[in-house]
Amino acid sequence: MKVYLDNAATTPMDREVIDAIIPIMESGFGNPSSVHAFGRGTRAIIEKSRKQVAKYINAAPSEIVFTGGGTEADNMVLRCAVQDSGVTHIITSATEHHAVIDTAEVLDAGNDKLKLSLVKHDAKGYIDLDSLIQLLEENKDRKTLVSLMHANNEIGNRIPLKKVSEICKQYGAVFHSDTVQTMCHYSFDVRELGIDFLTCSAHKFHGPKGIGFLYVNQDIQIKPIITGGAQERNVRAGTENIIGIVGLTKAMEVAYRDLEAHQNHVQGLKTYMMEQLEATIPGVTYNGDPKGDSLYTVLNVQFPNSEMDEMLLYNFDIEGIAVSGGSACSSGSNVGSHVLRNIGADMTKPSIRFSFSKYNTKEEIDYTISVIKDLFAVTA
Ligand code: PLP
Repeated sequence: MKVYLDNAATTPMDREVIDAIIPIMESGFGNPSSVHAFGRGTRAIIEKSRKQVAKYINAAPSEIVFTGGGTEADNMVLRCAVQDSGVTHIITSATEHHAVIDTAEVLDAGNDKLKLSLVKHDAKGYIDLDSLIQLLEENKDRKTLVSLMHANNEIGNRIPLKKVSEICKQYGAVFHSDTVQTMCHYSFDVRELGIDFLTCSAHKFHGPKGIGFLYVNQDIQIKPIITGGAQERNVRAGTENIIGIVGLTKAMEVAYRDLEAHQNHVQGLKTYMMEQLEATIPGVTYNGDPKGDSLYTVLNVQFPNSEMDEMLLYNFDIEGIAVSGGSACSSGSNVGSHVLRNIGADMTKPSIRFSFSKYNTKEEIDYTISVIKDLFAVTA
């Protein structure tokens, strides 16, 4: 049996997405910047897509910038904030995706005017909101960008978006949330949230890779980090990825059409897996708080030590089960997981991230549990 439980790393494309893309590959090749009919045709498709995407999060179409994925969108926010918007203080967390934390560190290095602050975490790995308030209070004289992800890609812990947004407003800080793991898994209303930036990546919800978008509140002006063309209203140069844009839009349509059913199905699998693990493996525990405010697609399991600690991930692979060792996007090993390290997880124990999608079944979880049972029975 082959079981794919690494859906936080990436998801398989939906058949409906593939079917929407094929006609564009066959005939939607005109450059959207061209004035002839071929170009006008693809331009119309892009603008229709932008409208649809905006509608799903209650934004205006002009607030949506298509990007080459989540990493680029995150980079745009941080780099624009510092280079063009006069931000002199970034508050983020040590458990952000590398697209945010590495970018913040690069911007901070060699820039005397910029200050980088990291919020604390509580014992369960949640962002400590008192620590956020304290950092904002202590730096009232600076223009601050707060960048905190909606749900952590490795452990699943979420932040209360509306509450954080209100705190930022109170202190006049700009608020960005990396919603790459949660967009199309929850509903978003940017007007209600009062948020400034959101970032999205289609391959996390059965769309194509290399396409995403940045939501930028209309009150904020950004400048391009990639120059060389007037595309995307002058903020993201480069011929548009029409295939990706159509795929993203279809993936979003399918996700929001079937949202509740998928939420229930996937949460059911996660709960079932926890029950089975607890009944089967003595000493099993979790990183993060999977029974609390947790992204329903992610379950980070800390296994008891055994002879095969080093080999655990490979043993899953041999049995046909694709999982990841702690880290979302660099599947392979949990040795370097900055998330687990920074929430104070026990790094001497092997941790495996199981992440689910609408395509997973209870039978696949049963198979996974049977493999885990065998692995631990053999070596215990
Ligand atoms: N942010 C988070 C939270 C992610 O999990 C990922 C995943 O890889 C990214 C950003 C990067 O997105 P992309 O792969 O589209 O560049």
